Amino acid sequence: QAKAAGRNTLRFFDQEMQRVADERIALESDLRQALALRQLSLHAQPQVDLDGRVIGAELLMRWQHPTRGWVSPAVFIPVAESTGAILALGRWVIDSACHTLAQWRRDPVLSGVALSVNVSVRQFSDPDFLPQVLAMLERSQVAPGRLKVEITESLFAEDMAMVVDRMEALRDAGVRLSIDDFGTGYSSLGYLSRMPMDELKIDRSFVDQALLSESDAAIVQIIIALASNLGLAVVAEGVETEVQREFLAERGCRVFQGYLFGRPVPLPAFEAWVRAR
Ligand code: C2E
Ligand code: MG
Ligand code: MG
Ligand code: MG
Repeated sequence: QAKAAGRNTLRFFDQEMQRVADERIALESDLRQALALRQLSLHAQPQVDLDGRVIGAELLMRWQHPTRGWVSPAVFIPVAESTGAILALGRWVIDSACHTLAQWRRDPVLSGVALSVNVSVRQFSDPDFLPQVLAMLERSQVAPGRLKVEITESLFAEDMAMVVDRMEALRDAGVRLSIDDFGTGYSSLGYLSRMPMDELKIDRSFVDQALLSESDAAIVQIIIALASNLGLAVVAEGVETEVQREFLAERGCRVFQGYLFGRPVPLPAFEAWVRAR
């Protein structure tokens, strides 16, 4: 009896694992075609300064799957990373950012807005990454300072010489570098002084808890102080309430991103929204 039950449980797990694996393979193959089938799009989320002026936006990838509906980037980006599809997707994001910035160049309102793009470890580490970015900037004739590349601390686990070289080359070209989700990774503070960078983004989880947990409040303060002492800009992500905004502003944060100011919306809607302000 017990043995039979055990066998059934095992069979259930087998089936479940098989289902998860099948699901993953289906997702992988759908993702490979997503770009060509125009199922991917870019949303933009505003970044505002202390006076509420829109000074930048982050581009966030969206996937509308024909049967699954909207698939979250939290689900498909890791899949794209593991299959290598991220290389094509990431190139498309940067190309789109350059095109958009070129279109904005003569716009009285949008010319002052910078664009941030997320670059995954696999993409950054690819030998074609740097020449591609430089070529796209050149082709679009965009002032490179308008393009910001967001990387995460996980990149610092890669070949450090390669990472620093590439960061320096990007900065030499005028591209700005931002460390995303700062505080959630495992980089040592020593890296910070050796790494060429421009900005730290305080992870949403700390902002979220800052008013509820003393230790998260302390982490937020430390990140702001650290950025200021290293001469880096600091952006708070996931700001949802005015109380959070005040807390951050009182501690010296000057740039904010979050639902309080605007959710990520399709690029054309973002452009209209900025113009209407
Ligand atoms: P991220 O780069 O840290 O982006 C911020 C995420 O927080 C976005 O989620 C955004 O929609 C969400 N968010 C912004 N403000 C708020 C807020 O006030 N409250 C809450 N609850 N959430 C907020 P999203 O768009 O789902 O993207 C998730 C992650 O997927 C991104 O995190 C990024 O790591 C990755 N991702 C998105 N687009 C790309 C891309 O083009 N390339 C790469 N490599 N990764 C991407
Ligand atoms: Mg980001
Ligand atoms: Mg982030
Ligand atoms: Mg985050």
